[in-house]
Amino acid sequence: MKKTTRVCVIGGGVVGCSVLYHLTKLGWSDVMLVERSELTSGSTWHAAGGFHTLNGDTNMAALQGYTIRLYKELEELTGMSCGLHHVGGVTLADTPERMDMMLAERAKHRFMGLDTEIVTPDEIQKISPITNIEGVIGGLYDPLDGHLDPSGTTHAYAKAARMGGAEIVIHNPVKETNQRADGTWDVVTEKGTIHAEHIVNAGGLWAREVGAMAGVYLPLHPMEHQYLVTEETPEVYERDSELPHVMDPGGESYLRQEGRGICIGFYEQRCDPWAVDGTPQDFGHELLENKLDRISESVEFAFNRFPVLQRAGIKTIINGPFTFAPDGNPLVGPVPGLRNYWSACGVMAGFSQGGGVGLSLAQWMIEGEAERDVHAMDVGRFGDWITPDYTRPKVVENYQRRFSVSYPNEELPVAREWNTTPMYDIWKEQGAVFGAQFGMEVVNYFAADGEADYETPTFRRSNAFEATAREVMAVRNSVGINEVHNFGKYRVTGAGSRAWLDRIMAGRIPKVGRISLTPMLSARGKILGDFTVTCLSEEEFLLTASFGMQAIHMRYFEQNTDNGVSIENISTKRIGFQIAGPKARDVLAACTNADVSHDAFKFMDAKHIDLGGIPALVQRVSYTGDLGYEIYVDANQQVALYETLSKAGAEFNMKPFGMRAMMSLRLDKGFGSWNAEFSPDYLPAETGMDRFTSYDKPADFIGKAAAIAERDAGPTRHLCTFEVDADDTDVGGYEPIWVDGKVVGFCTSGGYSHYAQKSIAFAFIPSDLVDTDFSAKIEILGKMCKATRLDTVLFDLENSRMRS
Ligand SMILES: Cc1cc2nc3c(=O)[nH]c(=O)nc-3n(C[C@H](O)[C@H](O)[C@H](O)COP(=O)(O)OP(=O)(O)OC[C@H]3O[C@@H](n4cnc5c(N)ncnc54)[C@H](O)[C@@H]3O)c2cc1C
Repeated sequence: MKKTTRVCVIGGGVVGCSVLYHLTKLGWSDVMLVERSELTSGSTWHAAGGFHTLNGDTNMAALQGYTIRLYKELEELTGMSCGLHHVGGVTLADTPERMDMMLAERAKHRFMGLDTEIVTPDEIQKISPITNIEGVIGGLYDPLDGHLDPSGTTHAYAKAARMGGAEIVIHNPVKETNQRADGTWDVVTEKGTIHAEHIVNAGGLWAREVGAMAGVYLPLHPMEHQYLVTEETPEVYERDSELPHVMDPGGESYLRQEGRGICIGFYEQRCDPWAVDGTPQDFGHELLENKLDRISESVEFAFNRFPVLQRAGIKTIINGPFTFAPDGNPLVGPVPGLRNYWSACGVMAGFSQGGGVGLSLAQWMIEGEAERDVHAMDVGRFGDWITPDYTRPKVVENYQRRFSVSYPNEELPVAREWNTTPMYDIWKEQGAVFGAQFGMEVVNYFAADGEADYETPTFRRSNAFEATAREVMAVRNSVGINEVHNFGKYRVTGAGSRAWLDRIMAGRIPKVGRISLTPMLSARGKILGDFTVTCLSEEEFLLTASFGMQAIHMRYFEQNTDNGVSIENISTKRIGFQIAGPKARDVLAACTNADVSHDAFKFMDAKHIDLGGIPALVQRVSYTGDLGYEIYVDANQQVALYETLSKAGAEFNMKPFGMRAMMSLRLDKGFGSWNAEFSPDYLPAETGMDRFTSYDKPADFIGKAAAIAERDAGPTRHLCTFEVDADDTDVGGYEPIWVDGKVVGFCTSGGYSHYAQKSIAFAFIPSDLVDTDFSAKIEILGKMCKATRLDTVLFDLENSRMRS
């Protein structure tokens, strides 16, 4: 065993072996993997081996497509068999809501190059004759669905990695991981200590324990999972071709052929978290006791859906554990707060996702960033607020919802009120309907007396529509108040602050007392954040960005820090409100003796002002596109500030508004939003972020060369605004846009502008179309809706409200 290495991967399941292979594939050969027992000794050996592309997150779906296509390459490279069965598969829809979900998925797949198809019940019957189609209204067919041999595949990854120079040491448990002062690691194993520049935790079932060796809590939990294999069945072995997969979400089951019989697995409601106090170190190639009572209802349902099962005796029952993160997606990437420590765990579908996880992580480690936006699986998407008591119930919820319809407006019920601001009870009394963002309760809208205090999950316009309209018009006609706690906020101090910001941000850094908007770019020019920068003094700046990006942004700041600068995350320490609308200035003036007239307090100014005796930072800026102010105070003064503002606002009939109204208001001005128009998938010029990029500033900001190259070559696509001829469903994101019978682009987000009373979509179209007359259609839930390009914003064209 070698004693020094560039990377030590801990864990030889399918994920660890894929990471190892991808590191060698991308050029790092001085890498090794250390496995406690034999390869596949965790969840991997007893997996059912199914793979599919379906995933609610578009980039995850694309990475699943990559994983599936990789197996052939692996077989050719190694000469080993992965035991591939590319049989295709169909997911059944037995309710209109599930059909909506499939139509939405199918639409997304059109520009992802995935050839899924919507199929009728009769077609399903032909594809899978053992399926009883009673109650089925349609389905989604995916030709890429299939299954493989889990052990063969893992060993193929391992062989491919060895061929690329990697070393694999088995029967060698890692006992400790100790970081040296220079950021490298001593990996203490049974066979000696390895000095590694980087560690990858691919400990699967033991990822929690491996993480704890470095003082890291990784939010994942193992769940028990059961599948059955039947005896030989004539309906299977008398066929000329293999049975396709059938996913029956209504029955919470997935089914496929296994040899001459059938394999069927269940995501049952009565499910069990496993190893609550930690995975035993001596758990090995063993299975858990069968718990058939837990799946009896699902089995009964399956007997009706697949009558052949009634005649086929059960040969084997498998009950094994595997791990989930709270939202079911993997935990991948650099662990916030630690240098050179990478996570590749929480992978619940190792055979659909393992390849994509390995590729993305290897790109991240070797090239500094992954090729596509991997936010959905970034280990940094959870913050330091997360604990096992949050993770476990969310994992149970996720397991139970594995086959549930996921709606775009859905707020899940488990582990709520985890974090609240001091305003929580006050808002609740006013009818607030909350959602959760990054563990924080955030008001979505305010229900009036007699209205339901719960937003119905739907793909169409929801029961929040009227309330949202009221809140939007309150802002546009007079003034509204909204909490600004759902911004991530950072205090940057020190003599080197300006120079650091100039390097880290692509835009202009403002003068004292002023505010600027700027993208933060990666070395390849990808958008890592859309920031508001406020200069409070030459040695103190305030940054605001998306609340959910806190851990990711802090991780990036720490990775790129400079001497003479300190950065503090004050997201929940400094909170407050925004007031917006034509009467916002009157409300502000009524709270202070300070001069807040236009001449004294201009658009993009920031001032320290006492409001009702409370020291506040007031910024003249508003995401509503209206006259507006963001007001920040210490968290313990938020309620007092609210009382001051609401007293002053009473005269102007000031109304509270929530995030649904905010997201409608921003449409009127064409303002992009994080994770929709702005994400690491996009570059500045194609999104319109070039307006805020200072290509000519002297500082050599990160991403400068790439941003200049994009600008000079001219972007290949442009983000444009469309009015959509929609009926009861607005664009949510990733719907394809069609021109002349071809998909030419996709939507980034959209919604209903209550002010303009129009359905709006933001979409990328090829640059050569931008200056032409074209007639476009956007596919929403399978319906082609006419889309008309808008050349101007819908509200306040002259910016007279925002800037007056
Ligand atoms: C019943 C069942 C059915 C499933 N069906 C499917 C399916 O159809 N399709 C699908 O995609 N997925 C399926 N899965 C899930 C799949 O098994 C997992 O996603 C996958 O195996 C995760 O692989 P991994 O490498 O992350 O973890 P693991 O397989 O758990 O590997 C972790 C490895 O780390 C090693 N290790 C741990 N601690 C140490 C240490 N201290 N030192 C050295 N080594 C260590 C372990 O020995 C182990 O080999 C199923 C799972 C179960 C239980």
